[in-house]
Amino acid sequence: MAGSPKVGVLALQGDVREHAALLAGLGADVVLVRRPEELAEVAGLVIPGGESSVIDKLSRTFGLQHPIRAAIAEGMPVLGTCAGLIMLADRVVDAIEGQESFGGLDVVVRRNAFGRQAESFEAELEMPELEGGPVRAAFIRGPVVESVGPAASVLAALGDGRVVAVEQAGLLGLSFHPEITGETRFHERFLSAVSQRR
Ligand code: GLN
Repeated sequence: MAGSPKVGVLALQGDVREHAALLAGLGADVVLVRRPEELAEVAGLVIPGGESSVIDKLSRTFGLQHPIRAAIAEGMPVLGTCAGLIMLADRVVDAIEGQESFGGLDVVVRRNAFGRQAESFEAELEMPELEGGPVRAAFIRGPVVESVGPAASVLAALGDGRVVAVEQAGLLGLSFHPEITGETRFHERFLSAVSQRR
């Protein structure tokens, strides 16, 4: 995309490559973010799935926690999937001792809500906000959004009512992995939030 802004994938741990490949396939100029200098180059950030307690620790080790919090506070669009949603949540239940999130999304999430050893599963989600029909979603030890504050809104829930996708301005948080099922609409939504902000 000529003149398109650079977007980052937080590349500390997790399925970084899948997100980078998906974004590149959509024409984005992708930067792998491991250092504050790299964060400073990007106009939006994807936080991948992986292990949120590890992403948290590494982000502090690499001096990224404060810059990411500041960027979120300034309105940088962020797409967080699975562990990435945990990192975006203002409050995390069942975190390990001392675990912190970046915050920004006015929600409470519960880690490993589908059971630590539970098989991964796929589900079809109705998401009226997204054009093009239901979303095929892959859940891999994902979190559930236990409560949604007034600033955030629900994008999708499972049949039993458990919330698995939320949005708040440019922040998009998903319990599942769109990059695994070939679902590109969330990354497209993220990229359009990035270009609208310019
Ligand atoms: N259970 C992981 C965590 O707590 C999330 C799993 C995932 O990202 N696939 O961070």
